[in-house]
Amino acid sequence: MPPPRGRDTGGYVAGRPSPRSLGDMSLAAAVLQLDDRFARELPELCVPWQAEPAPEPTLLALNEPLAVELGLDPEALRTPEGVAVLLGNSVPPGATPVAQAYAGNQFGGYSPRLGDGRALLLGEVSDTAGRRRDVHLKGSGRTPFARGGDGKAAVGPMLREYVVSEAMHALGIPTTRSLAVVATGEEVMRERMLPGAVLVRVAASHLRVGTFQYAAATGGTDLVRRLADHALSRHHTDAAAADRPYEALLDAVVEAQARLVAAWMQVGFVHGVMNTDNTTISGETIDYGPCAFMDAFDPATVFSSIDHGGRYAFGNQPAVVQWNLTRFAETLLPLLADDADAAVEVAKERLGTFADRYNGHLAEGMRRKLGLADGREGDDQLIDDLLAMLHTQRVDMTSAFRSLSSVLRGDEAPARALFSDAAAFDRWCERWRARATAQELPPASLADGMDEVNPRYVPRNHQVEAALDAATEGDLEPFRRLVEVVSRPFEERPGLEEYAGPAPEGFGRYVTYC
Ligand code: AMP
Ligand code: MG
Repeated sequence: MPPPRGRDTGGYVAGRPSPRSLGDMSLAAAVLQLDDRFARELPELCVPWQAEPAPEPTLLALNEPLAVELGLDPEALRTPEGVAVLLGNSVPPGATPVAQAYAGNQFGGYSPRLGDGRALLLGEVSDTAGRRRDVHLKGSGRTPFARGGDGKAAVGPMLREYVVSEAMHALGIPTTRSLAVVATGEEVMRERMLPGAVLVRVAASHLRVGTFQYAAATGGTDLVRRLADHALSRHHTDAAAADRPYEALLDAVVEAQARLVAAWMQVGFVHGVMNTDNTTISGETIDYGPCAFMDAFDPATVFSSIDHGGRYAFGNQPAVVQWNLTRFAETLLPLLADDADAAVEVAKERLGTFADRYNGHLAEGMRRKLGLADGREGDDQLIDDLLAMLHTQRVDMTSAFRSLSSVLRGDEAPARALFSDAAAFDRWCERWRARATAQELPPASLADGMDEVNPRYVPRNHQVEAALDAATEGDLEPFRRLVEVVSRPFEERPGLEEYAGPAPEGFGRYVTYC
């Protein structure tokens, strides 16, 4: 099959005709009202398209708090018409579902045309705070960007995105959210036949570094400028008002991504597939495929079955983000200065701020994790020494940080028990305690503050796998329980001990698949 061609090259004029009647459309409008600003403003970057009908839809998960935040009625979403809207099988008037075009560097190699092969942007909703949010489908059928893919998604991976993105949100980390997962009633062929599903995802936008790469390659400076203006007005309005708005846009995205990756590094999150098409302009985490949380702290940790070289290993993530931002800056060059050399200088200067910003966010976050209100001489060493000790002793990262508050409450035992070389821990702990207790705040308050940033519960790999396996077999109870647990990550609750520790020995090395 020749590669799909977007409207910019005249390949596709329109998607499939909608089969719905007007009566259905007004029902759909009662469930969800959507704008189509992206499709209107940037038609070169998308193809109008329709979701494939699901033969026998079943709502597996609905995020009621998120629905309410979006101004939607959860009860209406649960009705057959609501589910049809969630699947894109009933389209509210005014909406123009589109498959978005983007390029991307996948494991470094450039693909000029990726795009939504199995996804659709349904449209944008204005939430109760007045923010514009994308409503997007994943697994909704083949599009002109599908290449060899079947356009489908299986229940397991869609529920994985649901639970991990909700956990990230609860941890306070910028992320796309999950509104619903609907089983389609259709089987999809993977390593075996699996139940199919559609994920309904909500995002500040789906503008990616890869969107800019596609615009620069296909539409030149004018299209990049319109895309940049769109991005400025959606995400970085302060930058829009700056003297040099495109330089300010680059700066704002560098800042948002530096902050984001620093947040990942504080909780042991490994994204797994940090291609430029999975790096957002908004600074939200996107595309939960082979992602996972580390148990034992090790910068070399890789979970993805396809990441043989460790390009996206835990410790490489900041460098990869900076590499992806460089690809972003390249697309903006014609907007940064009239003279090409001057533009490169501007880009280099902005990109050069990444390391300090990242290190600053990480240090600040790590200090909070250790109950240190402000930075002092020696703090960096204290943090580095702890991480080195976690690494050499292969200590569970989440448990280790969480256990430290008990030390300030007078009980060292839970922390000490995590370290095989207890004497080394004691030496470090003495230094840290002396530093922490020299502050004005009493130790108990410091401990409370630490418990607000060091999660007790993250989606542990063995728990995620067990929940997804059960769901694939039709039992959603473990999934629902896991979502409930990780949605309140900082609050220790009795009876949830099995969610608080690393995988048992027998679980083995964890491998994730896209
Ligand atoms: P991802 O790994 O999810 O970021 O996807 C990378 C690219 O592959 C995107 O262009 C997707 O739309 C496309 N893709 C992934 N899975 C499928 C599928 N089953 N059918 C069609 N396209 C797909
Ligand atoms: Mg992707």
